[in-house]
Amino acid sequence: MQNLSTHKSTSETPRQSKDLPESQAQSQPQNLSDRDLLERMQLLVQKERTLVTEILHHLKEVERRKLYSDLGYKSLFDYAVRELGYSEGQAGRRIQAMRLLRELPKDRQEEVERKIADGSLNLTNICQAQSFFNEVKKASPDKALGVDDKLGVLEKLEHKSSRQGQEALMESRQSVGLGVSLPKEKTRSLSSEHSELRLVLSRELLAELEEVRSLLGQKAMGMSWAELIGEMAALSKEALKDKKFGKRREKARPSTPAPEKLCVQTPTPEGELKASTSSQPEAEAKSKAKSKAETKSEPEPKPKPKPKTHQPKPRSISKGKRYRVWERDGGACVKCGSQQGLQVDHIVAVARGGGCEEENLRLLCLSCNVREGVKEFGLERMMRGDPSPERNGIESGP
Ligand SMILES: [Zn+2]
Repeated sequence: MQNLSTHKSTSETPRQSKDLPESQAQSQPQNLSDRDLLERMQLLVQKERTLVTEILHHLKEVERRKLYSDLGYKSLFDYAVRELGYSEGQAGRRIQAMRLLRELPKDRQEEVERKIADGSLNLTNICQAQSFFNEVKKASPDKALGVDDKLGVLEKLEHKSSRQGQEALMESRQSVGLGVSLPKEKTRSLSSEHSELRLVLSRELLAELEEVRSLLGQKAMGMSWAELIGEMAALSKEALKDKKFGKRREKARPSTPAPEKLCVQTPTPEGELKASTSSQPEAEAKSKAKSKAETKSEPEPKPKPKPKTHQPKPRSISKGKRYRVWERDGGACVKCGSQQGLQVDHIVAVARGGGCEEENLRLLCLSCNVREGVKEFGLERMMRGDPSPERNGIESGP
């Protein structure tokens, strides 16, 4: 930005005079006439808005390539706050706006971008609109708003302050049968030891929690909500580990050669993430159907004779092995530390001759896994969703 110091320097360096139509001194705000100052202000704001749409395009591409993973960030939001220095609100608004634009066809996208650039639509209202669209979709996926409906809502938000935007969205909420907007969940760090979690529960859920409390018996009497949640976390953690790694996981020894299930070959293009993970039970079912000799969920079942033909390559990961990798990597992505959407990944891809030894396995989150795929097989191939990148014999969570 301009140098706002008040010293009256009339000198200009050769470089400055080359780059600037006016001398630096003349262009300093305090030296501009009233009219020029207002004109220049308009010009700068216009530039700023144009820059916003450019930033949205860049954010979209960073997300597509999952580049933030290489910098050790868990998400685009994490990257925008910690690397780019945005406040959480600024980062959230830009990311929401980018996602809204991404979901529109190109010509309609440009239409909205022009409105951002000329100032008729602001990021706060776009962000509010995107939250509303997501809410409608979540409430009933088959009633998700179409492109024209979305643009209709955006039109109502033009030239409106964020408060007016909220009011306009309230009408839209009512028109699609959504009730009052509930406060969003929030986690706020209070100290290195404590965080405040704010959430809204339905009456049914509250009743269920009370039922859990009563099932826990006397020890749950007088427990605070935090203590009750702690108790439930401990119980569900064990149950989920049983489900994910098998009840006999503790006994599973690294040296035991276990009859192993086929690895699920999962392409990891961005658009297919959901399909990738959800396709796994299906693939597992197929694998089970192929060989009934294989057991269902035990981690290290007794070796049973296998058909000698079609012997699969040793690229499967038993539950016992997955458990050891999970424990070794501390239940977190080894690249970014995320604990969400974890998958067991082959460090050297199966297609490149990598095996299923523990040394060749690691925990990665979805983003980091996709990023590794992009680096190894290229963005285009990952986006196409070629089933061939056998980088990962991914075994995802339960
Ligand atoms: Zn990660």
